[in-house]
Amino acid sequence: MKQEKRAACVIGWPAGHSRSPLIHNYWIKQYGLNAEYRREEVTAEKFAGFVAKLRDNGYVGANVTLPHKEAALALSRPDDRAEAVGAANTLWFEGNTLHSTNTDVEGFLANLDAEVPGWDRGLETAVVLGAGGAARAVVYALLQRDVERIHLVNRSFERAKTFRKRFGPRVQPARWNEMTGLLGGARLVVNATTLGMTGGHDLDINLRCDAAAIVTDLVYDPIETTLIKTARARGLRTADGIGMLLHQAVRGFELWFGVRPDVTAELRALVEADLRK
Ligand code: NAP
Repeated sequence: MKQEKRAACVIGWPAGHSRSPLIHNYWIKQYGLNAEYRREEVTAEKFAGFVAKLRDNGYVGANVTLPHKEAALALSRPDDRAEAVGAANTLWFEGNTLHSTNTDVEGFLANLDAEVPGWDRGLETAVVLGAGGAARAVVYALLQRDVERIHLVNRSFERAKTFRKRFGPRVQPARWNEMTGLLGGARLVVNATTLGMTGGHDLDINLRCDAAAIVTDLVYDPIETTLIKTARARGLRTADGIGMLLHQAVRGFELWFGVRPDVTAELRALVEADLRK
């Protein structure tokens, strides 16, 4: 008997920039599933109503992007990750209950595991730049891997201080002008700001790290950011933002369609080609 078609979507306002349809429809084809992944442009005012009718509209779940990630958390039963991060980006049904998680946590860790195996072994000090939603996912992920000390550097110091309240004493808030001093002792440097994105300001940073340091950038457009380029030129090990983007999609696909997909070189090339357009 032919299985009923399953559908998932990305909900955002706007949603046109999202690469999720490209990624999920690639996997749907690769695994030969009777399924479809769509794009849904929904305003903040209409979001709660859309989610209430998600199943009636034929969806087994969804990704959620800006500006709906906090609202998605409030409208669902979050797991520990979404709760800790304070934002949900993936929704799915179990029975009649709508559950949520934050797959940026898993995507960040899986990308580093794939690109720099053993990166977290004995990792004492990380420097995280940024204090937005992505930085919250990164800090939670690093704490899960028992990183002893996280210097959270942000332009707005007040925002950096909220991280200590949320995540505890292993997180040490720091001012933007303290960054260079902190980099010398860092074994992992993470850019979780929007700096370095195509069309925006670049990240101006003096990468005076130890030779064993690892550098990762969440920004994926451009494909190779100035930070990643500089780190590679200095011989440091790196993991880039596209890798995280692909790995964060794995869990949603598994939850909706029952297959845990692989992040392949072919998929990466497809997304890179789309970004170059
Ligand atoms: P967000 O909530 O808007 O936070 C932006 C952060 O950037 C804040 O810490 C902000 O500092 C900082 N910032 C912005 N302009 C700055 C400037 N001129 N100088 C210094 N700091 C500046 O954004 P987000 O959702 O956390 O996302 C951050 C980045 O991660 C984005 O590029 C996003 O695309 C990327 N991301 C990638 C993935 C992936 O899978 N690769 C997943 C999630 C996010 P203030 O607090 O001082 O304003």
